Amino acid sequence: MAQKRSKYVIRHLRHKKLQYVQLLGGKCIKCGYYKNLAALEFHHKNEKKTGENWRDPNFNPEDCELLCSNHHREEHFPQLNDFQDETNILLSQKIKQGLDKRKALLSVVESVDNMEIV
Ligand SMILES: [Zn+2]
Repeated sequence: MAQKRSKYVIRHLRHKKLQYVQLLGGKCIKCGYYKNLAALEFHHKNEKKTGENWRDPNFNPEDCELLCSNHHREEHFPQLNDFQDETNILLSQKIKQGLDKRKALLSVVESVDNMEIV
């Protein structure tokens, strides 16, 4: 069960994150997003090492680049980029093959299962 953090710990963590964010330029390196501190994330440039989480004492912000949460997800799940286009292409192919729209959609959803979304 998650332990409730005291307001002092939360304040300390927020200061720490703000410090790291500012150190890395204060905005997403891809799109320049900076509005919400919670939506800015640390992306490890190489494989994660010890201190992988910014809350860990060993965390080194120099090993990271700053990304907004959307770009961070895109970085980790490139296979899902343009999923709408691919889904629509597959869907129209299934419909052309004679499947009704509902069955075609189920078939397409099953193919997404093979895309290793974790
Ligand atoms: Zn971004």
